Amino acid sequence: MTLVEHVKLAGVVGAGGGGFPTHVKLAAKADTVIANGAECEPLLHKDGAVMEHRAAELVRGMQLAMEAVGAKDGVIGIKAKNKHAVAAVTQACAGTAVRVHLLGDYYPAGDEYDLVYEVTGRLIPPAGIPINVGVVVGNVETFANVAAAATGRPVTHKTITIAGAVATPATLVVPIGTSFRDCIAAAGGATVADPVLCLGGMMMGETTDNLDTPITKTSTGAIVLSREHHVVARKLKPAKAQAAIGKSACDQCRYCTEYCPRFLLGYQVEPHQVMRSLAFTATGAAHWNQWAALCCSCGLCTLYACPEELFPKEACDNSKAQMRAANVKWTGPATVKPHPMRDGRRVPIKSLLRKLQLQDYDRPAPLRPAPLQPSRVTLRLKQSAGTPAIAAVKAGDTVTAGQVVAAPAANALGALLHAPFAARVETVTDTHLVLLRTA
Ligand code: SF4
Ligand code: SF4
Repeated sequence: MTLVEHVKLAGVVGAGGGGFPTHVKLAAKADTVIANGAECEPLLHKDGAVMEHRAAELVRGMQLAMEAVGAKDGVIGIKAKNKHAVAAVTQACAGTAVRVHLLGDYYPAGDEYDLVYEVTGRLIPPAGIPINVGVVVGNVETFANVAAAATGRPVTHKTITIAGAVATPATLVVPIGTSFRDCIAAAGGATVADPVLCLGGMMMGETTDNLDTPITKTSTGAIVLSREHHVVARKLKPAKAQAAIGKSACDQCRYCTEYCPRFLLGYQVEPHQVMRSLAFTATGAAHWNQWAALCCSCGLCTLYACPEELFPKEACDNSKAQMRAANVKWTGPATVKPHPMRDGRRVPIKSLLRKLQLQDYDRPAPLRPAPLQPSRVTLRLKQSAGTPAIAAVKAGDTVTAGQVVAAPAANALGALLHAPFAARVETVTDTHLVLLRTA
C-alpha cells in the first residue's frame, strides 16, 4: 500500500486548524516539505508539546512525506524560544535530510505565505497556495500523524491546550469528540463564573459559551476567559454594531494596513480601504472587496493595530464572503515585493499579549501524556475541508477502537472518521455521532 493510501485510510487531515485532507496534499509533486511548528496564537502550546514529545514521529512523517512528493528538502519551522522543542527535534533530525529553521517570536509567523517566504525565500503567487512554488506545508502534528498512519494507526486523538482562566493550564491528549467541558475540568476547572471560550486562540479563533462543543481533528485548544474580559466583549459585539461603529469612527489613519502582515509581505491587502466601503451602500462593493481578497484573517488589524478599536478584520471577512457568494475572484497585480519596513513592523508576542490583556495568563501549560478517558464523545461528521462524512454505523451498533464510523461519499473530498475507543453508538444524526464508552 502507498503512503497516500495509508494516510487516506487513517483519516489524516491538517491538525493545525486547516483540516485539508493530507492524502490529497501528499499526492502532489514538490521539492520542499515544511512542517509548521510556529504556533503563534498566544497561550497555545500544543505544537510545542508535539515537537518535544513526538519528535521522532514528526521527523519520520516528514521523511515519508518527502519521499511521497519527491522532495529533497525537509524543514521544520520552530520559534527559537521553544528551546525544549528545538532540542528534541534537532536530535531527531540528526542523520536525516530534515532540518530545523528557527523563527522569531512574532505574530503571525505561522501564516503559510510568511512561513514559505521565511524558509525558502519564495513568494506564493497572489491567491495561490504553497504547491504553486513547489512546497507542501503541514502542521507538525499532521506529520506525526502521517508516521502513525504508515504503521496502520488512524487519527483518533488530538493534542490541545486549555489556557486562560483555569486553575491549572495544561496541554492534553484527548479522544476526538471529547467536550471542552471535560477538558476544562481536567485543567482544574474555570476560575471565572461565566466562562467564554476562544476556540483555537484569541486571534483567529471563534468565540463560544457552549462548553459542550466537541474537540475535532482541527482543534488546537481554547483560551478560557470571562465574558467581561475587554477583548471578549469586543469579539461578542454583533456584526451589525461592529460595522456601524466602523462606519462612523474610522478616520482612515491606515494603521490597520501598515501593520498588516500580508501587506508588509507585498500583497495587495489594504483593510483601511475595505473600511471605506462601510461608508457606502452596496455601490462599489466589487471594488472595495478586492482589497480584502488576500487577507488571511490573522486578526492583527482589529486586535492590535487599530487605535480606535474598530473591526477591519471582520470587514475583510465580510468582503471575502461577499466575493465567494458572487463567485468573484481576485483580479489584482501578479507581482509581489516585500515592504522595506517589514522586519521593523513585526509584532512581538509579548506586545500582543499586553494588548490582548492576557499577560496574567501567560503561564506554562505542560503536557499530560496519558489521554483523557471521557465516557462519551460527540463526533462531528464535518471535521475536514470538503464534504461532511456519512455515518457508516447506526444507533445501537457496537464499535471497536479504531473502527471506521463515517466516510466521505465516493470521490468526494473529505476524510474517514474512526471510533477513538470501543463504544456503543448512542445517536446518529446528519451532523454528528454520539459514542458511549464500553471499555
Ligand atoms: S486603523 Fe482603525 S481607524 Fe485607522 S484606518 Fe484602520 S480601521 Fe480605520
Ligand atoms: S486580518 Fe487584518 S491584518 Fe490580518 S491579513 Fe487580514 S487585513 Fe491584514
